[in-house]
Amino acid sequence: MTRITLKNVNKTFHDKTDGLTPVLAIKDLNLEIEPGESVVLLGPSGCGKTTLLRLIAGLEHPDSGQIYHNDTLLDAIPVEHRGIGMVFQNYVLIPHWESRRTVGFFLRLRKREEEVPAHVETVSKITGVDIESLMGKFPRNLSGGEKQRVSIARSFARDLQLLLFDEPFANLDAKFRTQARIELKRLINQFDVTLVYVTHDQVEAMSVGDRIIVLDAGRIVQQGTFAQLHDDPDNLFIAEFIGTPTINTFWGRVIDGMWDGSYMGRTKVPKPLADGTDVIVAIRPEYIYLTDVTGIPAVIDAVTPYFAEKYQLLEVWLRKRRWQIQVPLDEQFEAGQTIHCALDWSQAYFFLADTGDRIR
Ligand code: ADP
Ligand code: MG
Repeated sequence: MTRITLKNVNKTFHDKTDGLTPVLAIKDLNLEIEPGESVVLLGPSGCGKTTLLRLIAGLEHPDSGQIYHNDTLLDAIPVEHRGIGMVFQNYVLIPHWESRRTVGFFLRLRKREEEVPAHVETVSKITGVDIESLMGKFPRNLSGGEKQRVSIARSFARDLQLLLFDEPFANLDAKFRTQARIELKRLINQFDVTLVYVTHDQVEAMSVGDRIIVLDAGRIVQQGTFAQLHDDPDNLFIAEFIGTPTINTFWGRVIDGMWDGSYMGRTKVPKPLADGTDVIVAIRPEYIYLTDVTGIPAVIDAVTPYFAEKYQLLEVWLRKRRWQIQVPLDEQFEAGQTIHCALDWSQAYFFLADTGDRIR
């Protein structure tokens, strides 16, 4: 199990079109991952997840800063001693290799080919999937899901210390993804490894990671468990990025020491702020409730039922703003209808409009 430490790591690329314009992919990043920990790197496309993973793998070199595996600078560790297994989104299997050859690659390299069948059996047993039946097949005869299973079996096939996964299931259909995550969790629990798992999908992040590290524009914005990120966001980016359905936001200004959102009403701000400060209030759709005609009027634009979650989501127009309100399934609503609502202010978050920082 590897401990990973990053100190003040920077990585800049040069724009692919002109080869000149610098692209800051990772900015002064500090991070510590404990041995045996499962962490997820989560963030929107282009935020630097793959770059960070490749830096940890030693596939990219930082412009400045240090990366350690177990207190040794990564550069000083010979590649064959790093014990890294990697799986990528589009893992390209070698077309003329049977799965058996792919899975056994690292064992064969170490002249331990006789361990291949036992390894395949172990992986089959733990995942509950008959990997053995895939062993005689070539990539062209494997489905997308089967190819990723072979890639994963291969990644576990070395003297594994550290697993690095980059959106391994992103191209697979939803049903397989759920199944594959369960199989993966079983494997990870059986092997003593450190896992760094990249995804842009928060459900995946929640189910794989003990700790979720959210990146935006090459920086860590916040880290913690899913519940911590969801219930206690440090900034507007996290509030809007974490949680389904997406949180509602509205702009207002401090007037006479109170937040004033014009038709949204007035309310206390969590701490005293100068008059004229722009403040964004955010509230999840579940904390807006329907009222009699004295509430805030809104016009329904669309109604979407979520049967498993037992709610329906109303998309409404409130003046010129689009909002989402979560209501019970058993009431009838239709597009065009006017409803009235109110906010549970105790569940609202306040953010400085300038910086996005949470006001606590
Ligand atoms: P993510 O995996 O979160 O989508 P990446 O780490 O792939 O993000 O990319 C981060 C930023 O760095 C993006 O702006 C991307 O365009 C840029 N980038 C990544 N790799 C290269 C490269 N080899 N050359 C130029 N720019 C790159
Ligand atoms: Mg990526």
